[in-house]
Amino acid sequence: MSGVTLNNVIKKYGDVQVIHGINLEIDDGEFCVFVGPSGCGKSTLLRMVAGLEATTGGTMTIGERDVTAMDPSERRVAMVFQTYALYPHMTVRENMGFGLKMNRHPKAEITEKVAEASRILKLDDYLDRKPAALSGGQRQRVSIGRAIVRGPEVFLFDEPLSNLDAELRVEMRVEIARLHKEIGATMIYVTHDQVEAMTLADKIVVLRLGNIEQVGAPMDLYRDPDNKFVAGFIGSPAMNFMGGIVGDDAVEIPALKTSVPVNIATAYKGKSVSVGLRPEHLMIDQTGDTLRVDLTESLGGVSYAYLVSDTGERIVVEERGDERVSEGQRVGLSFEQRRVYLFDAQTELRIRT
Ligand code: ADP
Ligand code: MG
Repeated sequence: MSGVTLNNVIKKYGDVQVIHGINLEIDDGEFCVFVGPSGCGKSTLLRMVAGLEATTGGTMTIGERDVTAMDPSERRVAMVFQTYALYPHMTVRENMGFGLKMNRHPKAEITEKVAEASRILKLDDYLDRKPAALSGGQRQRVSIGRAIVRGPEVFLFDEPLSNLDAELRVEMRVEIARLHKEIGATMIYVTHDQVEAMTLADKIVVLRLGNIEQVGAPMDLYRDPDNKFVAGFIGSPAMNFMGGIVGDDAVEIPALKTSVPVNIATAYKGKSVSVGLRPEHLMIDQTGDTLRVDLTESLGGVSYAYLVSDTGERIVVEERGDERVSEGQRVGLSFEQRRVYLFDAQTELRIRT
C-alpha cells in the first residue's frame, strides 16, 4: 500500500509562509492532480513530498511510513520534471538505467527494467540515440522511463507537458493516462492547466495561495463547486459571473433582465450576490433584445459569442448549432434554472439553494 497522507503540512521560506497547513489523503493507486494558478504552491508541495524541500511543520506518510524527515532517496518516489534533465552524452538506454547503475544494481536487472520501461513508452527504436536526436515528446518519455525503471511507489510529475507544443501535449496526456492504467501506481501530477486536471485526475486538489480550496473528482468539482474560485477555475471557457439581488423568493439578474425563483436563507434577502452560469448552459434567443453581441469566435464545431449586457457585464456563450449570431446583433439568453449558481458577494462561498 502506498497512499500518501499530508497532516497539517506547512512550509515557510524565512518569515514567509507559502503552504498553510494542508491536510490531504491520496489513496493507493490514485491519480491525484494539484491544480491552481502560478505561484499557489503546487511545486513546493510536490517537492516536499519528494523530500527536495524540508517541511516546516506537520507530517507526511507514504503507505505506513512516516517520511517527513527522510532523504529523497529513502522515500521510494520518483519525480518527472518540466525540463527533462537528461544527460546529453548518454544514450536513451544509459539515461534510463543510470540511477540503477549508480546504486550498483546487477547489469541483467538494469537491462530487464530498461527493456520493460521502453516497451511501455514505445521507445524501443530509440534506445541507442542521444537526447539531441529526439523530439521534445520523446525526451519527456525518456525522463518518464527513468522514473519507471526505479520502480517507485509514488510517481511525482511537475508540469511535465509544459514544454511541449499543443498537439504533443494532448498526445502525451493520453500516454500518461495509459501509463497510469498500466502501472497502477499512485501518481501526483502538478499542472496549472485545468483541462489536464479534468482529463487525468481521479482526484483534483484545487490550490490557491497555499491553501486547498476544494478536493474532489473532476465532475464533482465541475458540477458542485464550493466557492467562486473553484467555479471559475474548473471549466473552459470559465463560468460567467454577474450581479444578482435577492428578493423574497427569487434572485433578480439585471444583466439578463430576468429573475429566477430560489429558496434562499432569509439572511440574504435584499442583499447582492454573485450569479454564476456556465457558457455551455446558456442558449441564445435570436428574437430577444437583452444583450449585444460584441464579438464571435468560430472554432468549427463550436463557437463562442461574447456578449455585453446593458448593465455593462460581459458574458460568454457557447454555441453548437449551425445558426450563429453576428457581431452587433442584439439577442436574449435563456437557461435552465437548475444551472444557476449563487455565491456570497463577500466570502465568495457557494450559497446552496
Ligand atoms: P507553483 O508551482 O504553484 O507555481 P511554487 O510552489 O513554485 O508555485 O511557489 C509558491 C510560492 O512560494 C510562491 O509565492 C513563490 O514565490 C514562493 N517560493 C518558492 N520557492 C521559494 C524559495 N526558494 N524561496 C522563497 N520563496 C519561494
Ligand atoms: Mg510550479
